[in-house]
Amino acid sequence: MSYDVSFLTLQTIARKVGIDVIGVTGVEPFEELLPLLKRFYEEGRASGFEHPDAAVRIDPLSLLPNASSMISIAVAYVHEDAYATTYPKKVTGLVSKYAWGTDYHRIVTQKLERLAYYLQKQVHHDIAYKIAVDTSALVDRAVAERAGIGFIGKNCSLITDEFGSWVFLGTLLVDIEIERTPEAQMEHVASLSCQDCDLCLTACPTDALIAPFVIDSTRCLSYITQSKGMIPEEFRAPLGRRVWGCDTCQTVCPLSKTPSLTKEPAFFPERELAFPDLYYILSLTNRTFQQKFGHTAVAWRGLAVWRRNAIIALGNIRDDRAVPLLIDLLTDARPEIRASAAWALRQIDAKEGTLAVAKACYEEKDTQVLLEMRYALEFTENRQETDR
Ligand code: SF4
Ligand code: SF4
Repeated sequence: MSYDVSFLTLQTIARKVGIDVIGVTGVEPFEELLPLLKRFYEEGRASGFEHPDAAVRIDPLSLLPNASSMISIAVAYVHEDAYATTYPKKVTGLVSKYAWGTDYHRIVTQKLERLAYYLQKQVHHDIAYKIAVDTSALVDRAVAERAGIGFIGKNCSLITDEFGSWVFLGTLLVDIEIERTPEAQMEHVASLSCQDCDLCLTACPTDALIAPFVIDSTRCLSYITQSKGMIPEEFRAPLGRRVWGCDTCQTVCPLSKTPSLTKEPAFFPERELAFPDLYYILSLTNRTFQQKFGHTAVAWRGLAVWRRNAIIALGNIRDDRAVPLLIDLLTDARPEIRASAAWALRQIDAKEGTLAVAKACYEEKDTQVLLEMRYALEFTENRQETDR
């Protein structure tokens, strides 16, 4: 078969664009995914962020009907600061490493745009193309696995040989023929596997990994930190100091322990974001939040979600100094902030906090928040009884 672009040429372009791993596959549908996706939806394990139609998700042509080739790329994001020995102070929230720099959707999309531009120059004519980065109907990890970028581990992450699972994935569909990933790369990737390891399954704080390769997204802290409204009680303590995302099932993975580091400056950590002071988060206004973090991945759900998570983290740390601030937050305009503040005060269990929650009950109009406040008071009373 003759190709418009050879794999060697593609690799040369990829290096120029700052892509760390590249592979090419055909546009045949991912039939093997259909029953798995159907079960995923039927069993209520979808977070709601995914495209709702399994048939669309398995078919690359639903994105670009005249596509001939699918290019999958991985861009490494882990930075040496992830291994800093001096860990920041106690009131620092934990932010998932993927969110430490500029929003990867922008950066990976830019790289794919440049890749498409160079491909057009290569074939001397305009090409039709479609870019998919995380939010498209396609299952990026499945595309990457079939294109020989890496394999899908029991933690449901795509694991590469050189960078572990600390990579962002992107897909470029094009209407020209690109030479497929060489057999040697495919065979190497096929030789990688989890074998009998199950560290991620046992380390997951919420049992979201319900079986090898099976995730319940509704239990995953990465999704929960991005969801709006109140965080269900059972997930608040497991959140610990996490204010955005969760890295646990990647951190424990032996295949992701010593990755090559990112060379992309846009992913270098911004300290106020990578290691945010919880009080600093709670001092932000919508305007200052957008000014400081509008270009990052934490911005897309708005400040309220981040504030709520910071309040839960303060409750988990049980930092006494937070009590006056949490008392103020009992009258915040947002119900989830008032309810979270009541929960955090319950955790810290300071007398003035309990009195403030009791007082706030008289003013509270939201039934759900009132329930949370009453529950906080009952919990404190029960604890005092037990302590006697
Ligand atoms: Fe579990 Fe965290 Fe991994 Fe989600 S990201 S599956 S909560 S360890
Ligand atoms: Fe596979 Fe072990 Fe890594 Fe989980 S922790 S993805 S089981 S190698």
